[in-house]
Amino acid sequence: MSLESLQAENTDTIVALATPSGSGAIAVIRLSGPNALTIVNSVFKGKDLRQQASHTIHFGTIRDEGDKIIDEVLVSLFIAPHSYTKEHVVEISTHGSKYIIESIIKLFIRKGARAAKAGEFTLRAFLNGSMDLSQAEAVADVIASNSAASHQVAMQQMRGGFSNELKQLREQLIHFASMIELELDFSEEDVEFANRLQLRDLVLQINKVLHRLIVSFEQGNVLKNGVPVVIAGKPNVGKSTLLNALLNEERAIVSEIAGTTRDTIEDEINIQGITFRFIDTAGIRDTFDIIEAKGVERTRQKMLQARLIIYMVDPVQDAFDEVAIQVADIITLQIPFVLLINKKDLLTATQLEQYQPFNPIFISAKNEEGVEELKEELLNQVSLKDISVDDVLVTNIRHVEALQNTQASLDKVLNGIDNPITSDFLALDIRQALHHLGTITGQVSTDDLLDNIFSKFCIGK
Ligand code: GDP
Repeated sequence: MSLESLQAENTDTIVALATPSGSGAIAVIRLSGPNALTIVNSVFKGKDLRQQASHTIHFGTIRDEGDKIIDEVLVSLFIAPHSYTKEHVVEISTHGSKYIIESIIKLFIRKGARAAKAGEFTLRAFLNGSMDLSQAEAVADVIASNSAASHQVAMQQMRGGFSNELKQLREQLIHFASMIELELDFSEEDVEFANRLQLRDLVLQINKVLHRLIVSFEQGNVLKNGVPVVIAGKPNVGKSTLLNALLNEERAIVSEIAGTTRDTIEDEINIQGITFRFIDTAGIRDTFDIIEAKGVERTRQKMLQARLIIYMVDPVQDAFDEVAIQVADIITLQIPFVLLINKKDLLTATQLEQYQPFNPIFISAKNEEGVEELKEELLNQVSLKDISVDDVLVTNIRHVEALQNTQASLDKVLNGIDNPITSDFLALDIRQALHHLGTITGQVSTDDLLDNIFSKFCIGK
């Protein structure tokens, strides 16, 4: 469906509960659309809402057709275009009773509103140009964010993120595409409006930006979804003890915050705002045998899913040479790892000394010693500590794919410049790149292209 037909379709007035369903102190019901004000006004006793200024709040009652009061409410007005959706938006704060919420929403529907579909307010914000597509997507990420880091990247994207940078590069590329399109009109005269060397420079410059953004996904994804970590090691080295020490501390912190449920944390810890997810922790609790062929394979598979491995050894159980073999084995996986020598309480300082060459962290999981040092090392390993608030990171797989597709099209453009192809093929490849780039922000490339041509030249055809 085209953007235009979507815009034409979204002209009615929608209503939905904006707060979580269920009982609460307050619930907010939101309406957006041309009739939002008149619909609410028709059931509101208080002031005439149609006479009030934008961004004002009014106390009154909502009454049904029989003049029965459903609730005392506060009504917030956002007059078009000064609202999230750029349409008239009315938000009604009611008492958070399921009965009240349902009754009021049903009343609004009887008065001409339609129940909104999932994400429809934000869809309208996008269709009406309040934000681009990637910003609209970030709204969902902001709502879903559950750590300082995921919140930070989502906010950054919602506030424009890399869209502005992409938009600028895209404009420049559109300019070249227009020029080349123009050459097609004058094909018999063999003219070249688009300087190929300048185009080449621009493509290289764009590719550099694309590359940086594509690479940033690794960090962006980690910030958004957490760092997958595996705790591995032979049975009885102390893996569950460590995991419990890490998780219990986290649960203790969270359960201190009134109203939070312990269920919300699932084998995750938060270190300085970054989430570390322990994967396959059930495997640890089952205890598997690394020596058995099947056990080795399973351990390997598990470790390969991780971005970071915590490898634990028990120097009482295994002699130094045996530990050396295990460390060598881990290195072959080529995944960053932290080596933990556990049960340090059972060894003398001299005994521990010999492990120094492996650069381990000595801990006692049972006594919870060395745990802070481990956390510090986990942060170091994922090198996320130095990410600045201003860094633009890609966190959305759809965006990465679009960036990669753009890059592939631009490589064709480069190829076409270096091994000259006809203007129409070059124009086609540039259009492809523009199309992919445009899918990120939701622009329609062909319209842009035409606008650009006509705004710059009066060809008169
Ligand atoms: P897993 O099989 O690797 O998960 O090992 P467990 O966590 O079940 O620990 C095996 C045994 O080692 C248990 O009896 C633990 O109490 C003990 N253990 C774990 N950490 C330490 C430690 O730091 N010092 C000592 N002395 N014992 C430990």
